[in-house]
Amino acid sequence: MPNAPKPGFSYDGKTLTADGLPLPKLAERFGTPLYVYSGPLLRENFHRVRRPFASADPMVAYSVKANSNLAVLDLLHREGAWFDIVSGGELKRVLKAGIPAERAIFAGVGKSAEEMRAALRAGVMEFNLESEQEAERLADVARSLRRRADVAIRINPNVDARTHKYITTGKTENKFGVPLKRALRLARRIAEEMPALNLAGVHCHIGSQILDSSIHPNVVAAVMAFVDEVERETGAKLETLNFGGGYGIAYERGQKPLDLRPFARALLPELKRRGLRLILEPGRSIAAAAGLLLSRVEYVKPGDAKTFVILDASMTELLRPALYRAHHEILPVEKRAMPSGLVDFVGPVCETGDFLALDRESFIPSEGGLVAVMDAGAYGFVMASNYNTRPMAAEVLVDGGEAHLVRKRQTLNDLLRLESIPGVRDGAKGA
Ligand SMILES: *Cc1c(COP(=O)(O)O)cnc(C)c1O
Repeated sequence: MPNAPKPGFSYDGKTLTADGLPLPKLAERFGTPLYVYSGPLLRENFHRVRRPFASADPMVAYSVKANSNLAVLDLLHREGAWFDIVSGGELKRVLKAGIPAERAIFAGVGKSAEEMRAALRAGVMEFNLESEQEAERLADVARSLRRRADVAIRINPNVDARTHKYITTGKTENKFGVPLKRALRLARRIAEEMPALNLAGVHCHIGSQILDSSIHPNVVAAVMAFVDEVERETGAKLETLNFGGGYGIAYERGQKPLDLRPFARALLPELKRRGLRLILEPGRSIAAAAGLLLSRVEYVKPGDAKTFVILDASMTELLRPALYRAHHEILPVEKRAMPSGLVDFVGPVCETGDFLALDRESFIPSEGGLVAVMDAGAYGFVMASNYNTRPMAAEVLVDGGEAHLVRKRQTLNDLLRLESIPGVRDGAKGA
């Protein structure tokens, strides 16, 4: 009997596998570019985040925007997840996955009145408010539906999460959250003037891909002081404290994922003392390492300074390198003797910014070979676009030793179906 494969992505001999299934087989069966997720790794990552806080029985609200495939939501729901949503579209997904709305928390800086109505009617657990204007709008909508909305104020504690400037959210110059002084005024207004809102909690999310384990413990005191001040000033008894997500993972060799234990040690006694229920909103730390992007090499183009490996995957499948200059490891799917050198892994899209790795000391695969872009399970498929009229990739979930197609590859017809030429019947002239 062979040993049971380790969950996730590992080499079986010379071939990279997903929970024991050889990736070349998946490429043959489903085509490339292809997103491949590991069910066992998703579960393992969910529990790894939850464990340090387990004694507080936290609500671990998976951040749907990281990877919103219905199969991923269903899998995490079965593990006991709650869900952090940021749009009416994500609410629809959660409901479509059979998840009760009471397990969803509605966040985001720009909720429309229509989204608020849908969320109130469905019965979401809580709204995270990002401004006074939003509180006023939500109070109006709730009143018109004769409902009361549980709300948490998202505070902006003005800390630097020391991460990429596009994913830091807790500084005063960021659009997110309410600065502390204004937040206190808002809490008073909600308590005194907005009977359609129930001030249930405080929310704080300071950034993403945080790797420094002193950042979260450092904001605990400020957040707790704010909770105390709100309770003192309004007479309200808060029920929940939502500390957001943002736990960093190891994208690069030599990096270590964020150690959550110092955070849990600083936070849990403070929560217990105040009788607050903890909410966490991890996205990346659950989904990123549980997915890869499988791609085939179209061309290998030698240059004077380096080699360009032109893949069938591009910024339209995985935008993070182009958007944040993010690093993703790229591995050969079949290990064999290969030349190595300085490589740009690029896609076919007509943009200089279309790369998956730049100036990488790497193996040089050959035409027709397969590569795996690692840690692509979060902020991967969800950021896909149809730029250059490229159909979106398929997604496969490997679970129970089987590969399940959880999103079909988009066809060109899918992509063109919504367009039409004025005055032309059936919208188009040709085939
Ligand atoms: C994006 C987001 C998260 C999740 O962030 P990760 O870095 O994926 O853990 C959590 N909370 C809020 C409010 C967010 O916007």
